[in-house]
Amino acid sequence: MATRSKQPDTTDLSVWQVMNIPMSSPDITQEEIDAVTDVLTTRWLALGPKLDQFESRFARYIGARYGIGVNSGTSGLHLAMIAAEAGAGDEVITPSFSFIASANCVLYERATPIFVDIDPKTGNMDPAAFEAAITERTKAVIPVHVFGQPPDMDPILEIARRHNLVVIEDACEAIGAEYKGRSAGTMSDAAVFAFYPNKQITTGEGGMVVTSRDDWDVLFRSLRNQGRDVFDGWLNHTRLGYNYRMDEMSAAMGLVQLTRIEELLAKRAQVAAWYNERIDTISGVDKPYIAPTTTKMSWFVYVVRFDPKIDRNRMLGYLKDVGVPSRPYFTPIHLQPFYQDMGWKRGDLPNTERAGDTYLALPFSSVMTREQVEYVCYQIQMGIETIG
Ligand SMILES: *Cc1c(COP(=O)(O)O)cnc(C)c1O
Repeated sequence: MATRSKQPDTTDLSVWQVMNIPMSSPDITQEEIDAVTDVLTTRWLALGPKLDQFESRFARYIGARYGIGVNSGTSGLHLAMIAAEAGAGDEVITPSFSFIASANCVLYERATPIFVDIDPKTGNMDPAAFEAAITERTKAVIPVHVFGQPPDMDPILEIARRHNLVVIEDACEAIGAEYKGRSAGTMSDAAVFAFYPNKQITTGEGGMVVTSRDDWDVLFRSLRNQGRDVFDGWLNHTRLGYNYRMDEMSAAMGLVQLTRIEELLAKRAQVAAWYNERIDTISGVDKPYIAPTTTKMSWFVYVVRFDPKIDRNRMLGYLKDVGVPSRPYFTPIHLQPFYQDMGWKRGDLPNTERAGDTYLALPFSSVMTREQVEYVCYQIQMGIETIG
């Protein structure tokens, strides 16, 4: 282990800064504040010009033909399952190593989520495990771009094509990410993005479905607006729909955030680089692995992996005691109580469970300072020396 002084370099670090490192933080400027205020001044608060603009600019940024704004990533995933026509008796393959919405959206349509294991290096869906899980009931697959890194999409897409499956990308963590030069969100029938305050860009609550299919664009617009078709009169409801609309204040905020996307992603990459440099000097903990197929990483969270000899949960407790928040991330979906009630159990997905036991998300955002990163890493080193 590298020898280091027992004290972090905190010469220009205020006590307030050290003791108040948030787990995540939105990056808001006066521009976002003005944009939301302007909407309030116009009194046009829903289904207006800001939503239209945000949708078209977002789709252009991703490289898809259409963007359909919704009120959360979860709503977007639900609508994608309806478009995929996944229903009772159908199976949808998804990783358990994800946020719970990646599987709940399948249950909303009474289809059955089938969890598959991950590549232990990236945490992303293992294409071979995906293929092995396909049955005659399989309708769709949901590859998740875990932590902002695309899965190995070429084999996944080839397998899906061979079995005639719908592909929905859960790109909620991966705005701006690229796989072999292709943009996350453009490799499937439809993709879903999310704008919760911890995401790379935020609208408070919010999400966006993108697709290049004309029929699905029309369908998503109808479904998110109570089943009204675009040509319908106000009270003409063609199908069962939902109120999943994004409001004008959110869209106005998203528009400003989107103009800042390269700045926001670059700041996050800088914070990740500070972490990488420092984590490399500490034995017993590994930095995130970036696959050679990831031609652009979109840093969503910064997740380290502890040596199995180090008790990750004790490390979390140690960090909490010294004022550093951290989270086990992800807790595998198949081990959540109501999924265990459906028959899933520990032992079903060994790589997923090992990741769930040894990974830890550290404080991370575009507004984090180098001193804060240094403080977190110093405390990890002290933690390993204390409990290791
Ligand atoms: C954030 C996220 C979602 C959607 O979250 P919402 O809070 O509903 O916007 C879906 N899947 C993954 C993997 C996510 O990280």
